[in-house]
Amino acid sequence: MKKALVAGGGGFIGGHLVAALRSQNIEVRAVDIKPLNEWHQVFPDVENIADSNLEDIDECMDAVDGISEIYNLAANMGGISFIEHNKALCMLSSLINTHLLIAAREAEVDRYFFSSSACVYAQDRQRNPNILGLRESDAHPADPEDGYGEEKLFAEAMCRHFYQDFGLETRVARFHNIYGPYGTWDGGREKAPAAICRKIAKAKITGNHEIEVWGDGTQTRSFCYVSDCIRGIQAIMEAPYQPPLNLGSAEKVSINQLVEIVESIAGITCTRKYLVNAPKGVNGRNSDNTKFKKLHGWEPSTPLVQGLRETYTWIYAEVLKETMV
Ligand code: NAD
Repeated sequence: MKKALVAGGGGFIGGHLVAALRSQNIEVRAVDIKPLNEWHQVFPDVENIADSNLEDIDECMDAVDGISEIYNLAANMGGISFIEHNKALCMLSSLINTHLLIAAREAEVDRYFFSSSACVYAQDRQRNPNILGLRESDAHPADPEDGYGEEKLFAEAMCRHFYQDFGLETRVARFHNIYGPYGTWDGGREKAPAAICRKIAKAKITGNHEIEVWGDGTQTRSFCYVSDCIRGIQAIMEAPYQPPLNLGSAEKVSINQLVEIVESIAGITCTRKYLVNAPKGVNGRNSDNTKFKKLHGWEPSTPLVQGLRETYTWIYAEVLKETMV
């Protein structure tokens, strides 16, 4: 019988993946370095292993015991501020993927999934906010995001070589800004959609309608709703295609447009204070889904306004809970 390991199962995407797998009656082991009370979602009917550091090869060996497929979503990561200020920590995640691959090979697992990122793409191709979608080939010649993106590119190459040299069936997705409920929304690791939802929820609750926006708000991104991401992970995992594939939405918006959408959901208008020296990442980024669509016959298409409504509603409730403590 199939048994899946979700490495990073206490995290945002890991938690949603565990939820999906268990609903499909797949046996799951979720492993994370965090104590259980810090996991975003906990399902008592799956095997949960907390406080396990997968940088350690022995922990990886234990984690893969009896497992037929591995989803590696474990990484020390966060939004743009975190990855700009913690490059060494980001690069140390290479230990997780390296040791999990070795353990996977030893255990002769059927399939191995690695969560890469749009941060692998050459920065020179992302200078213009009116960017066309990034194609998979735009990762080379390489000039990825320093630290976090370098580590992802290295990990992608390791997955490729374990496939070519050892026959391990590895699969890789390059996530483009995944968002949704049950993720990090404060504390410094949150990403733009969660941060904007939190700021606007606080504005709504406190009546102080001034919010800070990082950069000048003209930088563009696409944001992929987490349920599309989970469907995409499973599609990629099941298909024969090995090389990295974009997994993102092609609905590009500016950060100003993102703010406007959340304002309209919240029913308020905010005064924006632009912090032009705050970390803002590349000027423009979008996902080219041509290859994904050709292989899978669909693409992530949850409208941003719909996904943000779900996300805002959840974050608003979290902010309210915190305000009442
Ligand atoms: P997350 O931080 O919510 O989840 C990552 C989990 O990994 C955390 O729960 C963390 O505690 C765990 N972890 C970290 N170090 C570990 C270790 N040494 N041993 C065991 N567990 C460890 O992040 P997420 O948004 O769910 O991202 C999941 C994966 O997708 C990561 O690899 C991330 O780099 C990648 N990714 C995410 C996005 C996004 O928009 N969320 C975009 C691109 C790539």
